[in-house]
Parts: sequence; C-alpha cells; structure tokens
Amino acid sequence: RDLAGAACLGHGPVALRIRPLSDLELEDGATVVAHKAGDQVVVLMDPGEDPEDPLCTHRSREKTFIFDTVFDQQASQVPAPPHRPTSPRGQARRGCPHVGAWQPRGLIYGVSSSGISLKIKEEDVYRATTQHLVEGVVSGYSSTMFAYGPSGAGKTHTMLGTDAEPGIYLQTLTHLLRAIEETRDSADCSVSTSYLEIYNEAIRDLLNPSSGFLDLREDARGSIQIAGITEVSTSNAQEIMQLLTKGNRQRTQEPTATNQTSSRSHAVLQVTVRQRSRATNLAGAVRLGRLFMVDLAGSERASQTQNRGVRMKEGAHINRSLLALGNCINALSEKGGSRAQYMNFRDSKLTRLLKDALGGNSRTVMIAHVSPASTHFEELRCTLLYAYRAKNI
Ligand code: ADP
Ligand code: MG
Repeated sequence: RDLAGAACLGHGPVALRIRPLSDLELEDGATVVAHKAGDQVVVLMDPGEDPEDPLCTHRSREKTFIFDTVFDQQASQVPAPPHRPTSPRGQARRGCPHVGAWQPRGLIYGVSSSGISLKIKEEDVYRATTQHLVEGVVSGYSSTMFAYGPSGAGKTHTMLGTDAEPGIYLQTLTHLLRAIEETRDSADCSVSTSYLEIYNEAIRDLLNPSSGFLDLREDARGSIQIAGITEVSTSNAQEIMQLLTKGNRQRTQEPTATNQTSSRSHAVLQVTVRQRSRATNLAGAVRLGRLFMVDLAGSERASQTQNRGVRMKEGAHINRSLLALGNCINALSEKGGSRAQYMNFRDSKLTRLLKDALGGNSRTVMIAHVSPASTHFEELRCTLLYAYRAKNI
C-alpha cells in the first residue's frame, strides 16, 4: 500500500512554472533572467552582478536549479484536444497558447544566456503534476497539491485559470468524477467539495463566507474535520467551478506595495471521495480518499512589501505557515522510516488541516511559480531556493 514516493512513479514532487513577462514588466524594462534549459533545469542569471567587474569574474553569474519538471510559457494549461488542428494556423499557435497581452516578444524567449537553446516543448501542467494524484484518491488515499510563489507569479492562473484556459481545479474534478463514474458498478460513491481560506490562522468557508470562523476538530479516529463547512455534493464539475469562481472573489485580498491584489490567504479546495463497496465479501466497507489543492498566500516577505501594522502581521502568519509547510515537505522527502516522525503539524493551521494528507501513504506535489523578470530578481531567487530546498533536503 505504499504510495509515498510519487517520484518513483515517474512524477516528481516539485515542479517549477515560469510565467511569461507581463506588459507591466515589459514597460518597466524588465528582461528575462530565468530560463528553462531542458525539462528539469532552470538557469537563473543575477542581473545585479556586473560581468565586467573584476571582483565578480571568478563567480558565476548563472545558477542552475534542477526540479522534477520545469514549465515555461510554452506549457499548455488545457489538455491537448484529441485531434490537433493541422492547418498552418493551428500549427503556428501550438507553441504559444497564451496569445493577447501575454504574447512572447522579441528575443526574450529564444536562447538562454549560456547559449543553450531552449527546447520548445508543449507541456501539460495538469498531466505532469496532478493527474496521478487522482488515481490515488479514487483508491482511498489522501493527496495534496500546492501552488507556491509570490503574488502575481501565476498560482491562481494554474489552479483556477480562466474560462478559456481552465486550471487544475476543473481538470482534476472532471477526471475524478469520470473515474468515480467508472466504479459505480462495484461501489456506491459520493464526491463532496469544500472551498475555504486560511487567513491570519483563521478558517473561513469561501462557499458560505457569512458563516464566520470555523474550527478544526479531530474526530474519534483522529482524522481532522472542519466543523460546519459547506460540502457540495454535485457531480457536475462545471457547476462546482462556478461555485469556486464565486468563492475566489471572497478571498481576502489586500493591495500591498508590490501587487494590487495580492492574496493574503491560503485557499484550500478539499475534495472527498467516499466509496461503499457492493462486493458481498466486503459489503459496507467504506473507502475514503481526500484531495487537497492549495493556492497558497503570496510568499513575498513582509519586509519586501514595505508592510506595516496589519499587513506586517499577515506577513508574519504567512511566513510562519509557509515555513511550517516547507519543513513538512522536507520531512516528507526524507526517505525511509523516519518520515513524518519529525513533522510539526501543530506549527500552523495549514499543516494541521493537511495532517492526514501529508503523512503516511500520501502523495504530495508542489508547483512553485515565478515571474522571470529581472525586476523581481530577489523574489525569484527566494522562490527557487525554497522550492529547491523542499525537493532536496
Ligand atoms: P498569483 O495568483 O500567483 O498572485 P495570478 O495567477 O493572479 O498570480 O497571475 C497574475 C497575472 O498573470 C494574471 O493576470 C494571470 O492571468 C497572468 N498569468 C499568470 N500565469 C500565467 C501564464 N502561465 N500564462 C499567461 N498568463 C499568466
Ligand atoms: Mg492568486
């Protein structure tokens, strides 16, 4: 029953997604300083180090980080249609699915500073990171998927997406509901969905925001429950998506110096699958699988956003929970029996909520998000270091 090592199934636990430069960044004269250089490699160039400076010549301006998967702006959000268009127009659009304001410009996307040409390969973010979690959940395991990164780096784009490019939430729900449909003959199944936020260590129901703060409770079997949370049990993924889109507007968002609408809360989509077996020898046996998909609060540091007062306190809470999460992921990536032994779930509400899904026979995947802009270099570097540490300790 050991599903712990997602990596051994060919799906690594830590991915990196680099979004395209935004119009605003281009207006600010930003250049791209993070380049994908192969399916697992990203090269970071320090724009602050002057290559002409004799003191710097012995130091490399470039740092290489290796992840399980690296996506850049060529990665596709939506699964490829079964029949791809073969017209020249269709071909031309294939490599760059994000048209409009995000169209790649000029030289930026061509060749990395080190001269390694970037392999333009269409990736499917969902398939490479989260799809394998769904099978586990249907088989009765718990799994977690995180989107990590600073505000504006693309976390919500990956998770929620847009109508034209739906994100991981919709793709996961669609896949899960279809998989459940296929087991109907052998089991009675139900799927329920909740959507909540953790803001300043308090839990709010995003599907029923007026219900106030909710408590975490441990039930008789020691599993964590959220008292009074709304559970939607429709089997129509589109219907759930409408609720999530509405719920997302209820998230606590405050303007900070770095971003107009940075999310100060962790948003957690929780999908629970209950299956009651119909086989005569197992009749009545219940299998419970749970999937958490977490759009984390912006990881930028409190000091970097020049926050004071309330914002500063938020920053401290966010830093604490992200640190606790990083420590748990570190402990998870430790091979062998010591796993989970050193995890301090009590360190934050987030890790307490995820306790069942982070330990034992669970699968965990993290997608770290970055903007490749030179103007965001510090954030970019910190994010790569965090994600790299999560993968390598
Ligand atoms: P975050 O949730 O991390 O704060 P968002 O997902 O809101 O960031 O992204 C900020 C902006 O960048 C949004 O306008 C979003 O549409 C755009 N964006 C993010 N990632 C991508 C991407 N991979 N391709 C195209 N646009 C993106
Ligand atoms: Mg967001």
